[in-house]
Amino acid sequence: MSDASNDPGIRRTIGDIEIIAVTDGLLPTDSDKAIGLNSAECERLCGHAHGETFHISVNEYVVRTAGKTLLIDAGAGTRTYPGVGLLPDNLRRIGIAPESIDAVLLTHLHSDHMHGLVNADGGVNFPNAELVLHEEEANFWIDKAPTGNARVDRNLPLVERNTRPYRERLRIVRGQEVYPGVCAQLSKGHTPGHTTWRVWCGREQAIMWGDTIHFEAIQIPRPEVAVAYDMDPGAAAEARRVIFDMCVDDGLLILGAHISFPGFGRLERRGAGFALVSDI
Ligand SMILES: [Zn+2]
Repeated sequence: MSDASNDPGIRRTIGDIEIIAVTDGLLPTDSDKAIGLNSAECERLCGHAHGETFHISVNEYVVRTAGKTLLIDAGAGTRTYPGVGLLPDNLRRIGIAPESIDAVLLTHLHSDHMHGLVNADGGVNFPNAELVLHEEEANFWIDKAPTGNARVDRNLPLVERNTRPYRERLRIVRGQEVYPGVCAQLSKGHTPGHTTWRVWCGREQAIMWGDTIHFEAIQIPRPEVAVAYDMDPGAAAEARRVIFDMCVDDGLLILGAHISFPGFGRLERRGAGFALVSDI
């Protein structure tokens, strides 16, 4: 797996819309996070035994449409793990000033997608951007009192820290076209308001699918396998199947947050599962 450190931005076009994959770095994880897979099957699919640490890409996507510069997801920031939080510097390296970002569109409010909204001092990394969130994700996390669910409650102050500086320019959306050729699609399961972002121009279409998968070697051939990061593993697996079918049937270019950088690919049906064909 490459962090493409020498080439932190890879460009594609969808008709008149420019899409640029930008790496935030590599995040450590382990295959124990795949639910219900025995160690032998795990090793067969991804080459890693249970408990072995490996890394997954953290990718964000700049979308240029109708004179606006959008950023889908904000990266993991510098407060979680070494090896991530490279997004602001990588944007500068490819000639995109963080100040030039007009909007940050989030797939969901988990650390590796939102911590890059603010810097180590709590100041905004994208001072001129509005923050765009699906209503269901916002309703679940924003301004919520502790719920008694430890996993949720751990994330609430992190949501507050990352979204508070943007509160005056927070735009809550449902399924509408948010910018020309860019639309939110709810895909509940990984989080209660997990959102994919559809990008289209004429007949060409792409989807930034957020955390539809974490482990490409496991979950693409076996989409029924959920991961410990999924808040509702059953709903996440159902959503994944729906998104996968849509990717094949609609011929979508995938922009994968955790597919090996730059995360561009297309899906094909193969046996009972799917196969990912790189598209760079
Ligand atoms: Zn993620």
